[in-house]
Amino acid sequence: MRPWTAWRGMPAAPDEFDWIAALRPLTRGAAEALGLMDDAAVLPSRPGFDLVVTQDAMVEGVHFLAGEAADIVARRLLRTNLSDLAAKAAEPFGYFLMTAWPEGRPWADREAFIRGLAEDGDRFGLALLGGDTAATPGPLTVDAAMLGWVPAGAMVRRSGARPGDALVACGAIGDGLLGLKAARGELSDPGGALARHYRLPEPLLVLREALRSHAAAAADVSDGLLADAMHVAEASGCGARIDLGRTPLSQPARAWLQRQADRSAAILQLASAGDDYALVCAAADGEALARAAEGLGIAAAVVGSFTEAPGLEVVADGVALQPGALGWRHR
Ligand SMILES: [Mg+2]
Repeated sequence: MRPWTAWRGMPAAPDEFDWIAALRPLTRGAAEALGLMDDAAVLPSRPGFDLVVTQDAMVEGVHFLAGEAADIVARRLLRTNLSDLAAKAAEPFGYFLMTAWPEGRPWADREAFIRGLAEDGDRFGLALLGGDTAATPGPLTVDAAMLGWVPAGAMVRRSGARPGDALVACGAIGDGLLGLKAARGELSDPGGALARHYRLPEPLLVLREALRSHAAAAADVSDGLLADAMHVAEASGCGARIDLGRTPLSQPARAWLQRQADRSAAILQLASAGDDYALVCAAADGEALARAAEGLGIAAAVVGSFTEAPGLEVVADGVALQPGALGWRHR
């Protein structure tokens, strides 16, 4: 897809109008985008539905590897935002995009970026609705505000957990950390599954109906299982108890864990790192949620419970672990 080269030639000094013209096909004909030719988009209300909005930015060298291919950056941007919609049991609809391109970055990178947006836009049914662009003397910075629909009142919030609810992890924990190590070449990764997970996480949108049926609260695991479980607990005014021995792990993560001398410390590391894009949920019937997820091909397990007492209690293979001032350590 090279719209600007088709009608204008490769501009020596691209301006925002070249960029907007190139992005126009990504609206996929959505009337709301007004062809990216107006000052704003307009979203008519949809009777019986709520519009769910979430926003995530990514900075080169911080949220993705410096020098990462631009099509991967684009797809990762959409997928990390989609993961937040997945946690809210929302159906994706479209997005607003902000890009700040480093001065001197070649046009080919922008073409690749658009290719990535087009590929995952088609895959997930997303329309580009509007946005903004800028040049920057700093690193590549991209941001999306992602919109989705839920039936009115049906968004799954963080604040719905109650003491006694099961704490359920849906999706493999730890592949974000191991994937980053693999993508950096620090970990052997036969077949490349771990690095692929880091670069192109799979948002668990398939769990939408299961969450609506079973989950009282949910968040996606972007900061780490323990941190995001506590986000749910704190928003709900309770605490949490987690047995890391029950954590759902991918086959490569299980193999990695087998090779670690201190298994408790290792699994704590997996549960304390981010970028998993799994979901952490509260459910009165946790087994029903885990079974529903597994029925959809997503590894899931009840890994603990929400508690009346505030704070986090963590156990791994019978070893109690507790938070310290400098992070997590053995008791
Ligand atoms: Mg999130």
